[in-house]
Amino acid sequence: MQKRRWGQTGLNLSIASLGTMRCLESQEIFNQTLNGAIAAGINHVETAQGYGLSETYLGQWLCNLPAIDRAALTLTTKIPPCPTAAQMAQQIDQSLQRLGVEHLDCLALHGVNTLEHLAWLQAPDGCMAAVGAAIASGKVGHVGFSSHGSLDLILQTLRTGLFAFVNLHYYFFRQHLEPAIALAHALNMGIFIISPADKGGLLHHPPTLLQQRCQPRTPLEFTYRFLLADPRITTLSFGPTNPTELAGAIAQLPTISPTAEPIWGTTEIEIAARLETLRHERLGTTACEQCYACLPCPEGINIPEVLRLRNLAIAYDMTEFGTYRYRMFENAGHWFAGQRGDRCTNCGDCLPRCPEQLAIPELLHQTHTQLRGQARRRLWQED
Ligand code: SF4
Ligand code: SF4
Repeated sequence: MQKRRWGQTGLNLSIASLGTMRCLESQEIFNQTLNGAIAAGINHVETAQGYGLSETYLGQWLCNLPAIDRAALTLTTKIPPCPTAAQMAQQIDQSLQRLGVEHLDCLALHGVNTLEHLAWLQAPDGCMAAVGAAIASGKVGHVGFSSHGSLDLILQTLRTGLFAFVNLHYYFFRQHLEPAIALAHALNMGIFIISPADKGGLLHHPPTLLQQRCQPRTPLEFTYRFLLADPRITTLSFGPTNPTELAGAIAQLPTISPTAEPIWGTTEIEIAARLETLRHERLGTTACEQCYACLPCPEGINIPEVLRLRNLAIAYDMTEFGTYRYRMFENAGHWFAGQRGDRCTNCGDCLPRCPEQLAIPELLHQTHTQLRGQARRRLWQED
């Protein structure tokens, strides 16, 4: 599998990384999935304190890994930001203990999602003091962060200069974080894309319409190509529940070699044009163009994200994905911030700010009716 430089860390990571959030049915399933990843050439495994038994299972699996394979592997765990250095130092030691290692290649701050989290990072005796000490003592190699926060918060966090890599939710169907990709690249940071299959649109089981319009690619293959054609991106995370799912995802990665067809060639350009035509046909003048100019909303509604889910449900029949994400509003705290669309009081504040002159209150209520379902909490800490 092709490898790319992980920004300023200097590590070379496979273009696919294994996320170990879901292969937790048993230690045996976990081991089989990890062994499948190694056999396929994946050399980056990612876990988190928030992923249930993942760190413990990974520690057990590492015990039996041949030394040559261990030496070739990059391990990352994620720990949430916290207010004090003492708390972070304790958590780093807990992760090392569970993983059964003395050195962690990479540590990511898991979910720098709010301004308070950013303040904790910047406080002199905050959590980054402990991360710095862990790097100085050899417990940790490199540090990065993931975020579910706003573009502005991500840009501010990148500009702190504290991090060597970043984990982002950036996909073909969610491109408004592009300025964060550009800044991270300019800062020579590694860029890890979080779960393109799941968060990128539930693309492992796409609606028929989307499958048809992406021919001869699958929607997942198309999105992998979109991401990997971008040389700024280092690696994409796969989060399979078992080795069979992993093999299915790997089979959809493009072949990258000087003799293979281009990752983003005539076929992909035609697919993107077809999707754009379909978007226009089905959304007409109600398409939200994701400019974010309508915010802030006094009721705390994440208008652009609600309307992005509406765009996808109407344009491409991605209703299952829309429902899956919409149900997280008001149920996942800072991991998926924003109030539901039906909280709109029709105050009208956002209307003059929308360059598309959208009837935002009406569209929000309509989206709520279409996508509301049973409230859903997050599965672990999902990135
Ligand atoms: S009209 Fe609705 S969505 Fe717009 S700012 Fe007012 S409450 Fe928010
Ligand atoms: S201002 Fe209009 S087009 Fe832009 S994100 Fe808000 S609703 Fe969408």
